[in-house]
Amino acid sequence: MKDDKMKILCKWCNVPTHCHIVSEEIAEHQGAYGIDDVKMAKIKIHRHFKGGNYCKGTDRIITVPKNKISEDKIYYH
Ligand SMILES: [Zn+2]
Repeated sequence: MKDDKMKILCKWCNVPTHCHIVSEEIAEHQGAYGIDDVKMAKIKIHRHFKGGNYCKGTDRIITVPKNKISEDKIYYH
């Protein structure tokens, strides 16, 4: 996976934005059959604009389930 290809749907401006994975961690998730370990990725959203100013999502680090990450796009809601 090439970092420079990764994009995330910024939840502050709703525009696909370049990002990269900062780190990964395991989180416990309460599933239907008990507690599952879920791989999470911390993702830094790159600087981008909303209107004439930087978007609030600029340089934010968010955590998303790793299985939501595909080759070239990440969707986050
Ligand atoms: Zn944004």
